[in-house]
Amino acid sequence: MKTQILFLAAFTALPLFANDNVMVSSPDGKLVVNLDTKHGHPCYSVTYDGLKAINNSLLGLTTNEQDLTKDLSIKNAETSKIDEHYRMDRSKKSDIHYVANRLLATLATSKGQELQVEFRVSNNDIAFRYLLPKQGETGSVRVSSEATSFSFPEGTTTFLTPQSDAMVGWKRTKPSYEELYCWDAPITQRSQFGHGYTFPCLFHERGVFDNTADELWIMISETGVDSHYCASHLSDVHSNPLNDGGLRASQLNTFSIAYPMQEENNGIGTADAAIALPGVTPWRTITLGRTLKPIAETTIPWDNVKPIYKSEHTYKFGRGTWSWILWQDDSINFDDLCKYVDLAQAMHFEYVLVDNWWDTNIGKAADGTAKNPEKSIEKLIEYAHSKKVDVFLWYSSSGYWNDIVQGPINRMANSIVRKKEMKWLHSVGVKGIKVDFFGGDKQETMRLYEEILSDADDNGLMVIFHGCTLPRGWERMYPNYVGSEAVLASENLIFGQDHCDLEASHATLHPVLRNAVGCMEFGGSFQNKYMNRDNKPRENRHVNTRLTTSTFSLATAILYQNPIQNFALAPNNLEDAPQISMDFMREVPTTWDEVRFIDGYPGKYLVMARRHGDTWYLAAINADTQPLKLNLDLRWLNASGLTLYSGGDNPSTKPLKLKKGAAQLTLPSNDGFVIIAK
Ligand code: CA
Repeated sequence: MKTQILFLAAFTALPLFANDNVMVSSPDGKLVVNLDTKHGHPCYSVTYDGLKAINNSLLGLTTNEQDLTKDLSIKNAETSKIDEHYRMDRSKKSDIHYVANRLLATLATSKGQELQVEFRVSNNDIAFRYLLPKQGETGSVRVSSEATSFSFPEGTTTFLTPQSDAMVGWKRTKPSYEELYCWDAPITQRSQFGHGYTFPCLFHERGVFDNTADELWIMISETGVDSHYCASHLSDVHSNPLNDGGLRASQLNTFSIAYPMQEENNGIGTADAAIALPGVTPWRTITLGRTLKPIAETTIPWDNVKPIYKSEHTYKFGRGTWSWILWQDDSINFDDLCKYVDLAQAMHFEYVLVDNWWDTNIGKAADGTAKNPEKSIEKLIEYAHSKKVDVFLWYSSSGYWNDIVQGPINRMANSIVRKKEMKWLHSVGVKGIKVDFFGGDKQETMRLYEEILSDADDNGLMVIFHGCTLPRGWERMYPNYVGSEAVLASENLIFGQDHCDLEASHATLHPVLRNAVGCMEFGGSFQNKYMNRDNKPRENRHVNTRLTTSTFSLATAILYQNPIQNFALAPNNLEDAPQISMDFMREVPTTWDEVRFIDGYPGKYLVMARRHGDTWYLAAINADTQPLKLNLDLRWLNASGLTLYSGGDNPSTKPLKLKKGAAQLTLPSNDGFVIIAK
C-alpha cells in the first residue's frame, strides 16, 4: 500500500446556533448530518438529497466512570477536509480517492465531563466515532454500552441476518455470522433469536417519503475494530426514546449499537470494551443513496483505517482447490489430497487448501508424531511444491470456547505454542493458514484475531478466518489478512437441500450486503450438480442437488469477492463439467481494480461488473421464478470486443453485438451469464 497522502486542512471553528446544533455535509452537499442535543441527550439526523434518511437518533456512551448519554451540551465544534489517495490490493477497488468533510464536536456535562464525536461525511458515506479524552487521574475505562442508534421512517423494510444465541450449534461454536437472511421484511419484525442483527444491515426506504417515487437504500456497519475494542452489532428493533418525527411513541423503528453477549466465548472475558484514555471507539458507518450503487461500490470500511503493521513479506493471491468442501473429512488423506494438488495444477491454480484432521489423518513429521512418515504432511507439501502448487493448512482457533475436536486444536490460542507452530509452517514452505471456530465478538476474541495475524505475518503466512466474525477494515489494517467466512457459505449446499434451494436468492444478497463491506471466503463456484463425491444421483436416497447452472457458478466467481478463492471444484469436473466453464475458471481473476453495480434487487436478481486490469467481467444472476429480461446499456464499457458466456448447463461463448450500445438478454431462473469485455 503506497501513496498515502493525507491532507488535513486546519480546523475551522463552527459557530454554534442558539439551539445547540451543528451541521456537516458531504463534498457534493447532498448528504447532511445534523448534530444536536434534545433535553441534554446528544443526537444526530441524516438527510440525503433533501430526504430525511435517518430520524433524530441518540448518541453517547456509558462507562464505569461516566454516563455520557445525558446532561450534555455542545461546547465546541470544528470542521476540516480530508482528501486522501490510497491503494488496495485485495478488495473491490485498487485506486481509492477519499474526500470527506470532517466534524469534531466536543460535548460536556454540567460537571465538565467530556465526550467528543467525530463525523466524516463523504458523498455517500458517513463514518463516525467517539473520542474519550483523559480526565483527571483516570487512565482507562470500561465502556459498557452505547446509546448510538439509527431511527428509520415508518414503512422502511429490512434485509437482515440475526445474531445467533451464544454457545449453541455445531460443537457450541456460535455465534459465527452464519444465519439466514430475511429480505424485504417489515422493520417492526423481531429478530429470530432476540439478540438483534449482525453487520452489515441493509434498509430500504420506499413509499415512506412525501413523493412516493422517492427511495433510499441505507447500509449500517462498523469498521476499524481491532484488539482495542469489542465488535458490535445492531440490537433488536425498539421505539425511539426521542419520539421524533411525529411518530407514535410505540412505533418500532430504531436499532441501537449492541455489544457482545456475556455468554459468548464460553462466558469468559468481558462483554464491555476496555480502553486506555485518551481513547477512541471503532467507526460506525452509514452508506446510502437512491440506488444500491453506493452500497455495492463503497470503500468506507477502509477509508478511515490504517495499516497496523508493515510486512516484510509479499503475499500472492490467487485460486485454490479444497478437497473438504465436496469430499469432506474422508478426503483428508495423502492420496485424495494429492488428487486435489493435481487438480490445482490442471486448473493453473496457485493453492491447495488442506482442511481439518490433517494432523492426525496425515501426520506431521517435524515433531515426530507422524503416523506414517512416508505420507506425512511434509511429504504432501513437497508433492504440492513439485507441482508448483502452494499450501494452506487448517487450524482450529481453540481454546476454551467450544467443543471442537477436529485437529489441529490448541495451537492457535496460546502465543508460545502458536509461534513455534508458525515457525515450523514457515520452515516447510506453507503459505497460509485457515483458522476456524472463533468464540464471538468480545474484545478478548478480537485480540486473538490480531495476535494470530501478527504472528502469522512474522512468518510470512497469510490468514483466512472461518467460523468467525465479520472483518472490519482488516483488508487495509493487516497486510497478511486474506478473507473471512462470516456467511452461510458453500458448505451449507452440502449440508442441506434447503440451502441449495436458496442458493440463487442468497447469491443476489451477498455482493450488496456481506461482501460489500469485506472480503468473503465463500468457497463456491461448484460445477458438481450433485453434492457428493461422484457427482451422481442415488436411486434410493436423496442427494442434495444444486438448482443453479454451470454459468450461474461462473457468474458467482465474479460476484463473490475474495483475493484468494478456494473454489469448490472437484477432480471429476475435469471430465464431467463443461469444458468452457473449466476454461473460464482457469483464467478467472480474484483481485480487482474496480467494481460497478448495474442493476438488481436483493433476493431477486443482480447485475454487477468488476474490472481486472483492462478487462471488465460483467456477471448477472436471476433468483426469481420467472425469466429476467435485461436491457443493459453497455456503452460505458467502451470495449472493442465483448464475449458472452451463457447457456445454463450447456454453456457456449459468442461475440455479443450491441444495439445502439445496449444488450438485450433474457436470463432464465437460477441461471447466470458473464460478459467479458476487453
Ligand atoms: Ca463455516
